[in-house]
Amino acid sequence: MRIINNYIMLNFTVGPVMCSDSVRTMGSEQVPYFRTAEFSETMKENEQLMLSFAKAPQGSRAVFITGSGTASMEASVMNLFSPDDKVLVVNGGSFGQRFVQLCEIHDIPFTEIKMEMGEQLVREQLAPYENQGYTGFLVNLNETSTGVLYDIRLISDFCRRNRIFLLVDSISSFLADPFDMETLGVDAMITGSQKALACPPGISVIVLAPSAISRANRSKAKTMYLNIKDALKNGERGQTPFTPAVAILRQINVRLKEIEAAGGVESENNRIKTQAEDFRNKIRNLPFEIVSKSLSNAVTPLHPLHASAYDIFLKLKDEYGIWICPNGGDLAEKVFRVGHIGHLTPDDNTTLVNAFKDLQRRGLL
Ligand SMILES: *Cc1c(COP(=O)(O)O)cnc(C)c1O
Repeated sequence: MRIINNYIMLNFTVGPVMCSDSVRTMGSEQVPYFRTAEFSETMKENEQLMLSFAKAPQGSRAVFITGSGTASMEASVMNLFSPDDKVLVVNGGSFGQRFVQLCEIHDIPFTEIKMEMGEQLVREQLAPYENQGYTGFLVNLNETSTGVLYDIRLISDFCRRNRIFLLVDSISSFLADPFDMETLGVDAMITGSQKALACPPGISVIVLAPSAISRANRSKAKTMYLNIKDALKNGERGQTPFTPAVAILRQINVRLKEIEAAGGVESENNRIKTQAEDFRNKIRNLPFEIVSKSLSNAVTPLHPLHASAYDIFLKLKDEYGIWICPNGGDLAEKVFRVGHIGHLTPDDNTTLVNAFKDLQRRGLL
């Protein structure tokens, strides 16, 4: 366990997550004024590293939105689509539902592909939508609420065949699972600072392929703060239209360079994969069922067979100083999630598994 500002915490949630020491050190610095060449330099580095880690095609750009992941989901829906579009939305949980709501709010005509909890998307589900004039496809690569990693190859092939613009919410999957924007033909992807980027919440990022840049530049979206065209224009000189979360952008810079120095995005993917596999091995003999049919490296969703998932979350937090991630709504009593993103090690997994074993000994698991 670690003591952070007198707060004992070992955090296995899916965001905010544990930060590395260097990211925390940067967070303790004074926040500088930002209309400077120095800050522009930081932003340009951030953009280049994001493009490289996302494997974005030539001519792509990244914009940094001050706001959590949802701000970039909303900006993308508003700026990259219009009421002339007709989009498909995969809805397999609370984040899919968020795209549905955004399409409703912004009058984007949509068809929902409703998923059963924990199920993978399969070919037969897409078949009815071939050659039906769809122009957009919205998916949360890892539906974090249920831990399902969708079959992005299947989706990518479908979109290519049908010449459909593909927007991927990669918020919790980016850096955790392999992702290659160019090979997959993804037009725009979104991520956020508090997931595998392992920085505080407050910044989200949209990576735009040239196809998305031209859509954003043509957009008639009525918005001041979430205007991507404006963000792109300012980004050319390493700036943002309004005061961004400067401190977090500096922490992101530290973190992106840290990943690069440690071998880049593949090494980070592998590190998180190892962390996830280590956990899944260590819980083999515990009374849990893994509820997703297709797991992301970012998170393991578990159904405890004999106890309330929410009670386990509370007990671990209050009595052991360990935070796992509760589920909301209907799933609150049935499912909790254990994250593998952030500054965690296999030893931390052992600490968590020992706490589970202790609960079991006490008759609480
Ligand atoms: C975390 C997350 C979001 C964004 O949530 P915010 O609370 O707005 O940061 C969106 N989609 C997915 C898949 C996520 O995991």
